[in-house]
Amino acid sequence: MNYVEHTFGFPFTDGSTREVAVMVAEGTGLGYSSQPSGGMCLWAIHSWTIVREPEGLTRYILIHLASGSNFPLCLYSEQHMRAWLELIAPLADWTLPIERLVKQPGYPTREELCELHRQAVGSVLCAVCGKLFLPRTSGRKPLYCSAACKQVAYRLRKGGVL
Ligand SMILES: [Zn+2]
Repeated sequence: MNYVEHTFGFPFTDGSTREVAVMVAEGTGLGYSSQPSGGMCLWAIHSWTIVREPEGLTRYILIHLASGSNFPLCLYSEQHMRAWLELIAPLADWTLPIERLVKQPGYPTREELCELHRQAVGSVLCAVCGKLFLPRTSGRKPLYCSAACKQVAYRLRKGGVL
């Protein structure tokens, strides 16, 4: 996939336009922009949930270029954003206007978008509580989502259950 930076003037609902610098995935009709994190954001890690995102990161947002619409799921690494975009791009013809785009047979559902989002970030299932979580460390993938779950696992192991 080839990416080129391009500035778009996307329309606002009040009739004004906002200038957005977008990394365009050439030929796909999709691109992404970035901005500092620190607000509320939809996150797919625990299904389709609104979370307060961590501050001090860069938030990446996927954009449908023909309409300027954002996809309401964020990512915090450019590598993850590109992985997600490249999973989504083949599903539909994203160069179409939004009214025609959403009627295409391949247009992904919310759940499919979440599932691909999870694949893109490489999230894993907690071995204790079964929740999906995002491993924070590089290297070996952790088995448990939290210190609490890790403790439960430790007690279970000591008791001979795990
Ligand atoms: Zn857990």
